[in-house]
Amino acid sequence: MKKTLLSSLSKKDLFSFIETLGEPKFRAEQIWEWVYQKKVHSFEKMENLPKALREKLCESFSFSSLTLIKKADSEDGETVKFLWELPDGKRVESVLIISGIRRTVCVSSQVGCPAACAFCASGKMGFFRNLSSAEIYDQVLGIDSILKEKGERVSHVVYMGMGEPFKNYDNVLESIRLITSEDRLGLADRRITVSTVGVIEGIEKLSNEGLKVNLVLSLHAPNQMIRKKIIPYARKYPLEDILKAMDQYHRKTGRDITYEYTLLQGINDHPDHAFELSNLLKGKQCTVNLIPYNPIPGMRLSRPSGKEIKAFRSVLYGCRINNTCRYTKGVDIAAACGQLAYQDAKFGISS
Ligand code: SAH
Repeated sequence: MKKTLLSSLSKKDLFSFIETLGEPKFRAEQIWEWVYQKKVHSFEKMENLPKALREKLCESFSFSSLTLIKKADSEDGETVKFLWELPDGKRVESVLIISGIRRTVCVSSQVGCPAACAFCASGKMGFFRNLSSAEIYDQVLGIDSILKEKGERVSHVVYMGMGEPFKNYDNVLESIRLITSEDRLGLADRRITVSTVGVIEGIEKLSNEGLKVNLVLSLHAPNQMIRKKIIPYARKYPLEDILKAMDQYHRKTGRDITYEYTLLQGINDHPDHAFELSNLLKGKQCTVNLIPYNPIPGMRLSRPSGKEIKAFRSVLYGCRINNTCRYTKGVDIAAACGQLAYQDAKFGISS
């Protein structure tokens, strides 16, 4: 018999199930407490339930839609990559990034990616399907359970793994509701970040959800012409309209905006591009997050030198554009930005 995912049940559903078994209502309350307060993910450990009920629950429910296939730690111990198998046998990855007291989980929202950006490994594998809200939520829950063994918890979630979150809007939103729900992980919405290639209808919709989620635009170019060369979706979503939608998001939610900019040598990394970028973002309350390109095997693109990156940044500073540069983490386990694309050979380098 196929098991039902326990996390797909609302409290009301659980009460109805318990009622159909002829058990007293407080049993549902007890189960809910074990799962969502004590975070216990095994019916055997629910000591105050009768054995027969525990067995019945075991037969009927599973705790996660995902099976952990592999876990790989980077050499510096700051990045951990997780490979999960989905119920249909497909596989996705998530990354745990450890930085000070932060425990950030980078989740995948799709298997593969329809955006196919020129510099990203996920797009190269093609697009297979959307993840369900449970499949997204269970990545966070699974990592949270592992961290809990060390007395730690997930503190932040970023939608920057495989996939374009706004091409799977409803399930992504539902997963945010699960992550933030007091009955589930109870993480504050301010600790969640969604990154988009610039799907305008998604940006607009999210601005009306009453959530204080951080929004990142993968900009990567100072103008529409260069953007079109590296991002196929740029043809559908013109830069000018995306920026308007981002401004509106800032106005409606009060959240500052981050513009992600992958530096590609000879394509978008010239100081003139930095000037153009500064003009484009002038007057906006935002930060530019520069990511020097992480090489993907088989792609004829290069990362700028340290000197070139410095020159680019000094123009931004001169123009008073807030900027940060993301130092690559997890390259040795192919867990760096844009490297998530499941390939057996690549996985488990140091697992
Ligand atoms: N589809 C979403 C989220 C996934 S990509 C988006 O486009 O934002 C997460 C971030 O990693 C994006 O900013 C993306 O452009 C960046 N990225 C992808 N491949 C990269 C690479 N090879 N090197 C550096 N950054 C990369």
